[in-house]
Amino acid sequence: MAGKFLRVNCNDCPSEHILFSRASTAISCPICGSTLALPTGGKADLVGCSIVEELN
Ligand SMILES: [Zn+2]
Repeated sequence: MAGKFLRVNCNDCPSEHILFSRASTAISCPICGSTLALPTGGKADLVGCSIVEELN
C-alpha cells in the first residue's frame, strides 16, 4: 500500500508541515527542532504533531 502525504501541525510551535506517512527517517520540525515523526518500518509514528489534513 502506498503512503500518503499528511499536513500536520507541530505541537511545539505554530507551524504546519507536509510529511510522508511512511517516512523512513525521523522528521524534525525545521522551525523549532522538535521531533515530529519516527520511522517504524511502516507507517511513521507521529510523536510531536497532529494531523490537520490527509493529502492524496
Ligand atoms: Zn515546531
